[in-house]
Amino acid sequence: MSYDFNIESPQTADELLAVIAANQDKNFRFGAGGTDLLLELKRAPQENLTVVNLAQLKDPIFKSITKVAGGYRIGALVTAGEVLDHEEVKSEFYTLWEAAHNLASMQIRQVATVGGNLCTASPSGDIACALVALHARCEIINTKGELRSVSVADFSTGVRKTVIQKNEVLRSVVVPINSNPNLHSGFIKVGTRLSMECSVVSLAYHIQMDDNRTIRHAGIAIGAVAPTIKFTDSACAFLIGKSKLIDTEREEFAGLISDYASPISDVRASAWYREEVLFNISKGLME
Ligand SMILES: Cc1cc2nc3c(=O)[nH]c(=O)nc-3n(C[C@H](O)[C@H](O)[C@H](O)COP(=O)(O)OP(=O)(O)OC[C@H]3O[C@@H](n4cnc5c(N)ncnc54)[C@H](O)[C@@H]3O)c2cc1C
Repeated sequence: MSYDFNIESPQTADELLAVIAANQDKNFRFGAGGTDLLLELKRAPQENLTVVNLAQLKDPIFKSITKVAGGYRIGALVTAGEVLDHEEVKSEFYTLWEAAHNLASMQIRQVATVGGNLCTASPSGDIACALVALHARCEIINTKGELRSVSVADFSTGVRKTVIQKNEVLRSVVVPINSNPNLHSGFIKVGTRLSMECSVVSLAYHIQMDDNRTIRHAGIAIGAVAPTIKFTDSACAFLIGKSKLIDTEREEFAGLISDYASPISDVRASAWYREEVLFNISKGLME
């Protein structure tokens, strides 16, 4: 089996769409930072593969973070390192900042992209988990230049599966702006080590409170405990209108989050351990 593949490196968005169109009847994959793709190709080499290298694209929408009406647009090729350097992302969406901060090592964060984290569709994708909690939406473009929008929560349909069709590419995500002044936002990652290790359990939370510290909006997502990252609707609804939780409510709240988990045992942790950890970090979230 050969490890060779052809590489195409479009420089503009139009060139990229033309390359995708020209490869419709061929075996091709996108490569951004390559941190997932190259490991996958090493494990399972493919014959006659073309890698459409996105790293040479100069397109500003793919490559930058910009303020847009109602939110921030983050290009698919923005790296975890660029997320960390963005002051407004840190202050507005701390859960995303903390997820990027905990991803792998400094070297990997310089090349690992937001789009790659979403499109690799791992249940333990840290950036993807934060974006689910933030109610972010994916902007997907096809070879005709048509855009469609899909919530990040619905973007992955299973382990390593997404809604992306063969004539499409992920262009960007839009994160809605906060509608309340006070935030309780962060990212909890439990792994055998903090970095250079996929999460055993992860929990992203972004809770918005009004001037009286009453919770008005809540986003909580859990990773590595089900085939896809889960948005915990009923736990979020439970918080609305409350300021703090008493002991019995904390147990109930943790139970609501845990209802979304269906973990498996693997080399990193048993299903039992994952359930226990998830319940305990959930119980501590609103202390
Ligand atoms: C040592 C190590 C440690 C790691 N630690 C972590 C960690 O702590 N947390 C974590 O979440 N991840 C971790 N990862 C996984 C990886 O680094 C991240 O998922 C990263 O964000 C992937 O981005 P990339 O640009 O390298 O993706 P790539 O490898 O380039 O691509 C990943 C997949 O997405 C597809 N793709 C990429 N961009 C697009 C696009 N715009 N449109 C459509 N498809 C696209 C590719 O075809 C491929 O299938 C780790 C990886 C390694 C090697």
